[in-house]
Amino acid sequence: MRHRVTNVAVRLFALVIMTSCSTPPPAPPTAAADPLDAKLSQFAPAEITANTAALPPNERQALEKLVHAARVIDGLFLEQVWSGNTALLTALSADRSDAGRRQLHYFLINKGPWDRIDHNRPFITGPLAAMLPSEKPLQANFYPADATKADIERWIAGLSGSARDNATGFFSVIRRAANGTFTTVPYSVAYQNTLADAAAALRQAAALTSQPTLKAFLSARADAFLSNDYFASDMAWMALDASIEPTIGPYETYEDEWFGYKAAFEAFIAIRDDAETQKLSAFGAELQGLENALPIDAAYRNPSLGALAPIRVVNVVFTSGDGNRGVQTAAFNLPNDDRVIKEKGSKRVMLKNVQQAKFDKVLTPIAGVALSAADRAKVSFDAFFTHILMHELMHGLGPHQVGGSRQPGSGQAVRLALKDTYSAIEEAKADISGLWALQQLADKGTVSPAIAASMYDTFLASAFRSIRFGLNEAHGKGIALQLNTLLDRGAVVVNGDGTFSIAPAKIRDAVGSLTRDLMTIEAEGNYAAAQDLLKRTVVIRPEVQRVLDKLNAVPIDIEPKYSF
Ligand code: ZN
Repeated sequence: MRHRVTNVAVRLFALVIMTSCSTPPPAPPTAAADPLDAKLSQFAPAEITANTAALPPNERQALEKLVHAARVIDGLFLEQVWSGNTALLTALSADRSDAGRRQLHYFLINKGPWDRIDHNRPFITGPLAAMLPSEKPLQANFYPADATKADIERWIAGLSGSARDNATGFFSVIRRAANGTFTTVPYSVAYQNTLADAAAALRQAAALTSQPTLKAFLSARADAFLSNDYFASDMAWMALDASIEPTIGPYETYEDEWFGYKAAFEAFIAIRDDAETQKLSAFGAELQGLENALPIDAAYRNPSLGALAPIRVVNVVFTSGDGNRGVQTAAFNLPNDDRVIKEKGSKRVMLKNVQQAKFDKVLTPIAGVALSAADRAKVSFDAFFTHILMHELMHGLGPHQVGGSRQPGSGQAVRLALKDTYSAIEEAKADISGLWALQQLADKGTVSPAIAASMYDTFLASAFRSIRFGLNEAHGKGIALQLNTLLDRGAVVVNGDGTFSIAPAKIRDAVGSLTRDLMTIEAEGNYAAAQDLLKRTVVIRPEVQRVLDKLNAVPIDIEPKYSF
């Protein structure tokens, strides 16, 4: 019975999504402003397109099947978030009033009735508000709504062997058993009909494509939807080498706020970006040379870099589920299954057209407020994206064990030595040494002078975008560390009107010396120095706060509109 309800809701949801693509722009605001208008304006609508015209007709048809599968996945995620989500969506869709349409719109952005960028506060008002529990359920719909976290913990503690593995695994929900205790239900059973729909679409796509690795992944993933064993399909995803790059299935566990055990369904249907892929392989050939030139004690450099984790640059055609809610994903690292990571590593996928939309709709307006007129004119997407690529590559360079290469294989991992400070130091290292590396390559002529001329200002604008999200997580901390250090060294200056500028005469040396400082802390495993640096620099200074205060009208993120 439940599956039937799900399928109706899935189709309804797909329909809502499809019609929302052709919805005319909203009417001008009336005198009595709806509080939801302000919330909606935080997400700038952005057309997201990818060049699918170059694909042969059979590959385009395969892409259509994949987009269909992704729509099915969207409804599945909705059901995973909260058991009442599909019923509420049905009720919201029936309300054709302006207020009702706004509520539906914000529901679709958040994939539920709770505001994901405002502490999950409920935003549904009027009679439908009675359908909501008082708070967003932290257990989502992965555990019974009437269970407590302690109930589940007690029950899991009493399990052993494969029963325990299944209960704590990625791909199952926990439900009430007939006797009132709990039972583990695999996704392949819990979502049987929906997954059969998705699997059928994947098989049709597999039959259409003439690219062997794509065919292999799609067939294996269709099998996994029905068998609940995702291992072989994750391995096939790592081996993908095709013009179409789909990621579809249960992946991230953030939605399970009790334990982080359960994977939420999502899909990223994308096309490989050949120009950026070429740029990446050109950079790949430069990495050992960059390592050899790192501005650190020579003994800390690695004379022989190993193979680096694969990176794919793609343009998305359609995203859904957990991959399309609230703030949009711009890059991801998958899979999360340790067994696959051990055998094949993991793959980083970067969504270039999503990054471009964020750049246009968020970063450019921020630059308009935060930077001087002369500096904001230099901000460029090419520099922004190239720096992101270099940031990812630089995670692989520099010391990874205490002592650097002086004691190969014997030093403690830097991650363990730096404990809770590691992520922030490592993120700051990847950012700042990314700028250092681009400057090196620009000096050699491998990177265009245009990028070298714009990358510092672009980085400065981007710092304000990151700091806006707060200093709670590693990226925000790492950015505050860099911005405040550059201010202290005179490489970033505050102008009389409160805007910020790069000091061209000082930036290059300041970037090099901060790269040296961070990599030396890592090579020495110097936890005390890391703590001291973070304590001094992970703050929002008054001059930065004054800029942040002026950014209220700038959107937080984008609302993607797909037109495939
Ligand atoms: Zn990073």
